[in-house]
Amino acid sequence: MDEGGVDLGPRKKFAEVTAQNLLKHARISTAPVSLRQVIEHLQSKTNLDVVGSQKFTEKVSGLLVVCKKADDEFVTIVFNENHPGCRRRFTLAHEIGHMLMRHGSCSEDGPASHAEKEANLFAGELLMPAKMLKKDLAATPDIPSLAKKYLVSAQALSIKLSTARLL
Ligand SMILES: [Zn+2]
Repeated sequence: MDEGGVDLGPRKKFAEVTAQNLLKHARISTAPVSLRQVIEHLQSKTNLDVVGSQKFTEKVSGLLVVCKKADDEFVTIVFNENHPGCRRRFTLAHEIGHMLMRHGSCSEDGPASHAEKEANLFAGELLMPAKMLKKDLAATPDIPSLAKKYLVSAQALSIKLSTARLL
């Protein structure tokens, strides 16, 4: 079955459920999803550091470093500070997905890899939970307004609407 170009089957479900559980535990139920609240929640249980960098080239949106020392794990997410706000949000959500789905440190495994697709599905559900989006879409059937409300790009929203079969 074609899921908007992504054919992951059970892994799609896994990515989405992982995002839904995180939203539940971080007590988020309204748009725009507060990534600050998500990150603070994660920081209450893991050694997570989130930093911006202005040194990345345009092509690099972010990276994830997972480091194990003794019995502890340290995770750092670095995002490209030069990118616009909604792109930075998607990058953060994407890297959090890699972290929670145990993909390990971000490698240059290309845009077509399963880990990348999973991280994108996770990010889509974290920033635009299908349940929330369905309600908002009924009230405001307008992509630019909804994108503004969710602080995502119109492109990311269109992809989500199609993978969640809301269009
Ligand atoms: Zn990635």
